Amino acid sequence: MLFGMIDGKRLTELQLIARIQGSRRSRNAVLRVGIGDDCAVLRVPAGHEMIVTTDFSLEGRHFRRDWHSAQSVGHRCLARGLSDIAAMGGRPVVAFLSLALPKNFEVAWFDGFMEGFNALAERFGVELAGGDTAEAPGAEILADVMVVGAVPGGKALLRSGAKVGDSLYVTGSLGGAAVQLAALAAGAACPMVAESGQPQAFPQPRVEAGEALRGIATSCMDLSDGLSTDLRHLCEASGVGADTWAAALPIAPGATLEQALHGGEDYELLFTAGGEVPGWIAGVEVTRIGTVVAGSAVRIDGRELEVGGWEHFRG
Ligand SMILES: [Mg+2]
Repeated sequence: MLFGMIDGKRLTELQLIARIQGSRRSRNAVLRVGIGDDCAVLRVPAGHEMIVTTDFSLEGRHFRRDWHSAQSVGHRCLARGLSDIAAMGGRPVVAFLSLALPKNFEVAWFDGFMEGFNALAERFGVELAGGDTAEAPGAEILADVMVVGAVPGGKALLRSGAKVGDSLYVTGSLGGAAVQLAALAAGAACPMVAESGQPQAFPQPRVEAGEALRGIATSCMDLSDGLSTDLRHLCEASGVGADTWAAALPIAPGATLEQALHGGEDYELLFTAGGEVPGWIAGVEVTRIGTVVAGSAVRIDGRELEVGGWEHFRG
């Protein structure tokens, strides 16, 4: 298959794969055979279980090329999966990337995408172990990223372990991604290099905090769709309700209460615990935002917490 143009010449799929592979030759202990064979071969570390997550990132729904830099899109595609691994208390080890690119896509954009993807992968020692490329049927870019992680056997943090009487916590702050999204939509330039303080363009998955929460948290999930939606998922999985307090929420600078509750894409961890919880975990501040209660009601300041999730690119 031929697609993509560079210096007036079309890129073949093999050339594209070569660009994906890059020059990196490092191998982590899990990956025995990576890109280049029919399948990747993974070693399961002794005493561990493997955890697997997959996420679509669709242009127009999860990102916009006129708002997000190519580097930001590559980073965000991978960050979603890393955050899911973090939410399970695991360590991410390998990733798979499947990309559908429109006819005559810009190779510079693709290179920027891989730059963002690889920089984040490197930070966590994650190896790109395979994937697929295809010509997209339309004008939009479609990316599917699978991340595999390892967690000590039986120790994965589940959504279903919250107990009545546990306290409810979040890491970091809420609403920052929504604030930056509004700025990008209003025409602010999107950075091309990952830096902190860019919660929409370069969200930082809480991998170290997730690992540190094993043995502390009774349940855990990551906040991708917004607290109001995700807290309900956690409560449903555990068969409990929750009482939260607006005044306790760690609202990001410049964010409104609405953005903190419904903004989504903050990729912080939401967890419950019965015992003592330190104020900081793996360098991230932890805030108690409520209590796990009997029943199924999810409340804020005594009123039902309305679900108003993720709808950034709708309408
Ligand atoms: Mg998740």
